[in-house]
Amino acid sequence: MTYLDRAQALKDTLIAIRRDLHAHPELSFQEVRTAQRVAETLHDLHIEYETGVARTGVVAYLGEGEPRLALRADMDALPILEATDLEFKSQNAGVMHACGHDAHTACLLGAAMLLSEDFAAGKLKGTVKLLFQPAEENFGPDGKSGGELMVEEGALDDVDAVVGLHVISTLPANEAYVRPGPFMAAVDTFEGDVIGRGGHGAYPHEALDPVWLAAQVINAIHGIVSRRINPTKQGVISVTVIHAGTASNIIPESVHLVGTIRSFEAEVRDQLHADLENAFAIARALGGDYKLSILRGYPTTVNDPKMAEFVRVMASDLMGAEHVHAADMHMGAEDFSFMARAKPGVFFNVGAKKDAVHRPHHNPNFDIDESAIPTGAALLAEAARRYLIENTK
Ligand SMILES: [Zn+2]
Ligand SMILES: [Zn+2]
Repeated sequence: MTYLDRAQALKDTLIAIRRDLHAHPELSFQEVRTAQRVAETLHDLHIEYETGVARTGVVAYLGEGEPRLALRADMDALPILEATDLEFKSQNAGVMHACGHDAHTACLLGAAMLLSEDFAAGKLKGTVKLLFQPAEENFGPDGKSGGELMVEEGALDDVDAVVGLHVISTLPANEAYVRPGPFMAAVDTFEGDVIGRGGHGAYPHEALDPVWLAAQVINAIHGIVSRRINPTKQGVISVTVIHAGTASNIIPESVHLVGTIRSFEAEVRDQLHADLENAFAIARALGGDYKLSILRGYPTTVNDPKMAEFVRVMASDLMGAEHVHAADMHMGAEDFSFMARAKPGVFFNVGAKKDAVHRPHHNPNFDIDESAIPTGAALLAEAARRYLIENTK
């Protein structure tokens, strides 16, 4: 029996875990109950584990010695008020598992169940390290996410390679997607003020209207990708927050702008930052001023070509080649990127579209086809099993 068959027998158990986590979502670095639930399950499987890794993460070991592969799942939820009518909807108002990290945690626990049976039966040699990572969606007070912190604490030091997956609610259920090389974008955020001089709305000539200045700045920002970046390269700048003003007859002092910057290559990333600065500087040319700060976020997620090919072949053998596809590049970002920089890594997707309704990630109506959970568990377990077998010297 393949892991895919054996995972079907665990389906109800894994779905129950996902629903329990879904009903009790916790924000980044607050995954206390979630970590406890993970620890209890590992304890029942007689798997050694350590809690408090990267603050609220859990790390566990199966087997010992070389070869050594890490499997990673993220555990945190988002600050979203859930709008579904699921019977297991969030009981923590304003917090929701709207990215599927509840499913990832269930997938990795499922992989632990499958692998622990084979380790106990003496069928596997080597080490599988399970990384239950906190805080993929947000930084802590030190500006670091859970993945970055885990790498910094050395969680990847004692492994040879790392594998992670993400369910995707908009891709057909139980299809796998993988690509070598750059996969997900680098993300930076910016925050700035366009500064003018306030005054009466009826006498704009006596003020310096920052709304007018900001309009020129935003226009210039929207021209950066189309006019300044090489058309064969990828980049995005989106202005997502604008705040100014208090009344219809008052010209405000300033306009606050916030947005996101996405790119794949270091040169493009630097150019986007420089041209964003130039766009804000238009305010100065027109007699006003500006402040701009750019916060560097996650780097580009780059799949190791050998590990990506390894997962493509593994998934094709397990599920049938017709269910394994070349993934598109995403402008979304992932802090798995830190792990894939520390060790040869591969991040791949498992489709989990539930029905004809659009239920995108980070949305109050997000939901998945839960049949993707045993599939994800089987893919992680099979990746580990094969890695150990193929890399045993
Ligand atoms: Zn997310
Ligand atoms: Zn996610």
